[in-house]
Amino acid sequence: MTSAEAARTDDRVDAATDADRSYPRIQMYVAGEWTDGSRGKTVPVVNPATGETLGDVPLATTDDLDVALAAADEGFRVWRDTPIAQRTAILHRAADLLVERSAEVGRIMTLEQGKPLPEARGEASRVAGGLRWHADDARRAYGRIIPSADDTVLSVRTVPVGPVAAFTPWNFPAGSPMRKIAAALSAGCSIVIKASEETPGTACALVQCFVDAGVPAGVLNLVFGEPAEVSAHLIDSPVTRLVAFTGSVPVGKLLAAAAGAQMKPCLMELGGHAPVIVAPDADPVYAARKAAAAKFVNAGQVCTSPSRFLVHASLHDAFVDELVTAAEQVVVGDGLEDGVGMGPLANGRRLSAMERLVGDAVDAGATLRTGGHRIDRPGYFFEPTVLTDVPASAAVMTEEPFGPIAPVVSYTDLDEALAIANALPYGLAAYGFTRSSATAERMVRGFEAGILSINHCGGSVHEAPSGGFKDSGFGREGGPEGLDGYLVTKRVSHLLV
Ligand code: NAD
Repeated sequence: MTSAEAARTDDRVDAATDADRSYPRIQMYVAGEWTDGSRGKTVPVVNPATGETLGDVPLATTDDLDVALAAADEGFRVWRDTPIAQRTAILHRAADLLVERSAEVGRIMTLEQGKPLPEARGEASRVAGGLRWHADDARRAYGRIIPSADDTVLSVRTVPVGPVAAFTPWNFPAGSPMRKIAAALSAGCSIVIKASEETPGTACALVQCFVDAGVPAGVLNLVFGEPAEVSAHLIDSPVTRLVAFTGSVPVGKLLAAAAGAQMKPCLMELGGHAPVIVAPDADPVYAARKAAAAKFVNAGQVCTSPSRFLVHASLHDAFVDELVTAAEQVVVGDGLEDGVGMGPLANGRRLSAMERLVGDAVDAGATLRTGGHRIDRPGYFFEPTVLTDVPASAAVMTEEPFGPIAPVVSYTDLDEALAIANALPYGLAAYGFTRSSATAERMVRGFEAGILSINHCGGSVHEAPSGGFKDSGFGREGGPEGLDGYLVTKRVSHLLV
């Protein structure tokens, strides 16, 4: 986006004031039509900042899902055979529309998920960039010609794998669905996506951009439903050729097992419990400020959120003092209000989880340095929290907190810190702070994780892959690797007669 475009987006944002609390009608998009489905059953969508119901989301029946699958089957044939230049032009048009609509999409996202409006709007326009990146990269999904040992012409081609069944969560209501839709459509696949029933308005707004850009009927289908019922039905269908999921490790294991039983490939973007190692030569104030900014963004509900702070004993007190100051400076409130730095948690489950994790840590001997309590107001607000002296046995040190809690422990030896960092089954993100290139390289080699940042807490980027080691999943999103899972290789041996 150019600075002029950014300025125009800002104007629109001012127009989307906190007074506007209207929420769109939620429907599914199946076979080229917006529909309520045939079940007649809905679940409410709740504003986590107020606890009020915003609207209702319809739940699909298995018959509705069969219509979506048949449409995706037909849509795949149409889209696969659409010339790549035409596909790319449509996807770029969808990206343009999303940027144009980012103020409104962000407003809907804040209403249903809670994150501050600038974060929500930033997410909406950023994911348009991801769509453009994949759309352009798909033009380079080259095959190759191999010198043959005989009279054959031997070649390798990459082709789209087929209709995709995708499942996305509520923490990045635009980012998660877009990563799957962008990769699938860029590769030439069709998709049936079940976005989160807790943040359906953003998913509908994204899909509308593709519809308005001219994506043919059946290529992109959006459904909602009972998650276990929908995933079982979509994964079992012979139409589905690839399963793509973002969410928790336990659900990922269930879906990967279901896909395995059908011999279907799957891509799993699962949880993490990212360590941050602060080496003795680091600047503790700088490290604490960077870590705090990353910790409290999206109220800590990020799979790559820094969540175990391993600080060299010599810097521990200086680091903790700055982290506590930063936590106490975070302005918590309704994300639609000006100046808010952290919104509510996205649902009541996270609020109960925060109370349980803090209570358990304190019972185990941790010191509560700041925060630690739900905020006494409607909605699901929790204080930015710092814990120190947290024993390894505390649940917060092993269980992904997915909330605004920063547990700090001190260490004396880098190998010991790396051993703690790698001790969990997770392996998604890891962070290191040091002024020494040798120490940085020890960290890079030592961390068992797929997303590493040194001297900052970097977010995901379009041009490089993100993904996990160990229980954090497999497959990559973003970068050239992001298309790999959506493509399949054909070897062609052509005997010239
Ligand atoms: P959850 O495990 O119940 O659900 C996680 C996501 O999976 C939700 O979007 C849910 O709708 C979906 N889901 C659940 N069961 C499903 C099924 N059988 N088939 C298909 N989809 C299914 O947990 P939750 O309370 O929504 O979130 C809490 C935990 O999930 C967090 O602690 C975090 O570990 C994890 N999570 C991870 C990410 C991520 O980006 N990796 C995102 C959201 C949540």
